[in-house]
Amino acid sequence: MLLEYEELLKRFENMIQRYSIMFSETMVLEAPYDIFYVSDPETYELYYVSGDTADLPAFGNYEGKKCYEVLQGRQEPCPFCTNSLLSTDMYYIWEYFNPVVKRNFMIKDRMIEWKGHRLRVEVAQNVSDQGRPKEILLEASRQQNLLTHWMRCFVEQEDLNTAFSIILKDLKTYFGARSGFIRSFTSVETVQYLSERGDDPGREIPFVNCPTNEMLERWKILLAGKKFIIVRSVAEIEKCDPEMYEFLNAYGLENLCMAPIFSRNQIVGIIGLGNLTKNWTGLSLLEMLGDCIAASVQKKIMQEERSRILYVDTLTGHLNFEGYKLRAGRFLRENPDKNYALCYCDLKKFKFVNELCGYQTGDRLLKYWGDFLAETLREGETFCRISGDTMSVLHYYEDPEEVRSCFEELVRHLSKFPDFVKKRMRVELSGGVYLIPPECHSLPIGEMLSRATMAQKIAKSRPGSELAFYTEEMRQKEIREMDFIANMHEALRDEEFRLYLQPQIDTRPDGGDILRAEVLVRWHQGDKMIAMPGEFIGLFERNGFIVDLDHYMFECACRYLKETSGKYEKQLILSVNVSRITMLQPNFVRDYLQIKEKYGVEDGMIELEFTENVVVEDLEHFAKLVHNLKDHGFLCAMDDFGAGQSSLNVLQALPLDVLKLDQMFFRDKRNEQRKRIIVASILRMAKSLEMLTVAEGIESEGQMRELTEMGCDYIQGYYYSRPLPAEAFERKYLMEDEKEA
Ligand code: C2E
Ligand code: CA
Ligand code: CA
Repeated sequence: MLLEYEELLKRFENMIQRYSIMFSETMVLEAPYDIFYVSDPETYELYYVSGDTADLPAFGNYEGKKCYEVLQGRQEPCPFCTNSLLSTDMYYIWEYFNPVVKRNFMIKDRMIEWKGHRLRVEVAQNVSDQGRPKEILLEASRQQNLLTHWMRCFVEQEDLNTAFSIILKDLKTYFGARSGFIRSFTSVETVQYLSERGDDPGREIPFVNCPTNEMLERWKILLAGKKFIIVRSVAEIEKCDPEMYEFLNAYGLENLCMAPIFSRNQIVGIIGLGNLTKNWTGLSLLEMLGDCIAASVQKKIMQEERSRILYVDTLTGHLNFEGYKLRAGRFLRENPDKNYALCYCDLKKFKFVNELCGYQTGDRLLKYWGDFLAETLREGETFCRISGDTMSVLHYYEDPEEVRSCFEELVRHLSKFPDFVKKRMRVELSGGVYLIPPECHSLPIGEMLSRATMAQKIAKSRPGSELAFYTEEMRQKEIREMDFIANMHEALRDEEFRLYLQPQIDTRPDGGDILRAEVLVRWHQGDKMIAMPGEFIGLFERNGFIVDLDHYMFECACRYLKETSGKYEKQLILSVNVSRITMLQPNFVRDYLQIKEKYGVEDGMIELEFTENVVVEDLEHFAKLVHNLKDHGFLCAMDDFGAGQSSLNVLQALPLDVLKLDQMFFRDKRNEQRKRIIVASILRMAKSLEMLTVAEGIESEGQMRELTEMGCDYIQGYYYSRPLPAEAFERKYLMEDEKEA
């Protein structure tokens, strides 16, 4: 019959009172001819002598006597006394011949804490019998081996549970126990049960087999006195405590042992064993194991604390990028046969969320997102918030479409975010996926992420929530970019970057002796390969090389102006592109002026093109820059006007010379009528602000005529000419005029 829980607890308490013993006593349980005593290391007063002392009359009545009197028959402390050597957590083992009892002993000394006192415990194992020392040494060495092996387990196993399970198996074998557990009470998750059912499968062993949390709580209290609970024989209890006997027996327990794990004077765990069949004298091993576990758990806690600081994103409470890199790297290493996909997700218009709903809502959304991922991911998968509103997830899959359904599920979940539902806002997510080929598992995570990001850029440009996969084409582009980076410096030195010119044809009836042209770069790689700016400008803007390239192209333009100046009838004005990064260099104006002066370029002969978005970003800075440049004889143009979000009145604030209409107005055929109206009004506005206008990307006669009629001053485009190498340009546009002249 099973007892009620309350009743059970009472039993436990009762049991501890009766059966708990100082663990060292266990060492003498097996051998009645061993002696075990406790004394005060300061006063040498003898507190307790155990063992069968019947045949040792000298030990008779020890109360109030000193240990050396009783045990050694001396008047003074023994000259070989170990008191000064002992510490609480170490044994001091030595061999000794006791003249009183005339026997050889193997002696283990150590200090213990008992009722607030520091006491010395000595266990003297009689080794007068021949084989005994060997036996003791053998057992000691077996225990040493086990301990060494366990320490290694703790070091090598990242996960304490795995270490516990290995150790528990060893324990079971060593003690011939039927069941057992190791349980730590710390935040570190280290629960482990190992058990076999008894012969009667209906009988559970609640003490040592899967104890409930409440039971463990109780054990914790019972073991808090740093004592072991050892019931050598449940059968023997029958006489003195029949109820307890019945209780233990009902669970099939023939014997049991519970050992506390202490760390810094606090109980941090329990080791429990049930139905042991051998090595009762070796139970001290459990205490040493307990110390090992305590140290490992402590280390683990510290590690976790450290990694919480280093590897946890405080906003979401999940991994940050650093932690993610480590974990994802490990999963990939550990699962070489799995198909893995690395995703990069970016919330569209997150700024909008923050502005409309407040930052707290924005933060909550990110946490909501993170929690969802944490809940749905499987073992072997991981994720992190990279920064702001971007996350990365490492999935494994059988079919790549699974990755897509995960993404779709995420989008559905995000759209249920309560604030969005309330405000009827739509969440849009763009994602990129890199399906990691098996041979690329060891690639740096950052590298994989940049591939996923590359794919994500494509998804981002499409409306709604979209997912795109990294493709072979992207890979080729990446390889080409790597090649660009490897060769760019040499290419600059070896003059592989060439000046190409595209004329801007004057449409005005009186336009005549001035020829304008835009300077465009081409990279001549080897004999036939020509790389277009679209392939490398963006890359160079990212890696900063654009500053060198812009300077170089500007210098080429100035040199070209000098070479051609005075040679032809027509006055050449060159317009050179300046990238945002170049423009923001602290010595930008000074450097460009120096080059301009070096080649004696006259004022008004060279123009700098700035793209619209740069201008809008920092209008004030840009306005200053334009004034400064103009003071030094540069013309200034706004490139790609109409592509970004600038408004017409931005133009009023800037004393620009030239306005270039973005190609987009003439590219696709949608909304033609509306575009025409916009173009016409831009042209009117520019005129009233006394700016020259250039239409770029003009490919047909019709476009050319229309723009001319609208009053556009210059036409640049394939209709007249593609960008030409300088020599070809010179032949076609400068020399021909010469001939005509
Ligand atoms: P952009 O400044 O807008 O230059 C005009 C681009 O339009 C040039 O492309 C030109 O070849 C192209 N184009 C001209 N007419 C037509 C046409 O009728 N149809 C079509 N489809 N395209 C036309 P390109 O040379 O490939 O240069 C691309 C971009 O690279 C330039 O756009 C500019 O932003 C940048 N770039 C070129 N050279 C340099 C440079 O030396 N420095 C910097 N920072 N950027 C440069
Ligand atoms: Ca341009
Ligand atoms: Ca342009």
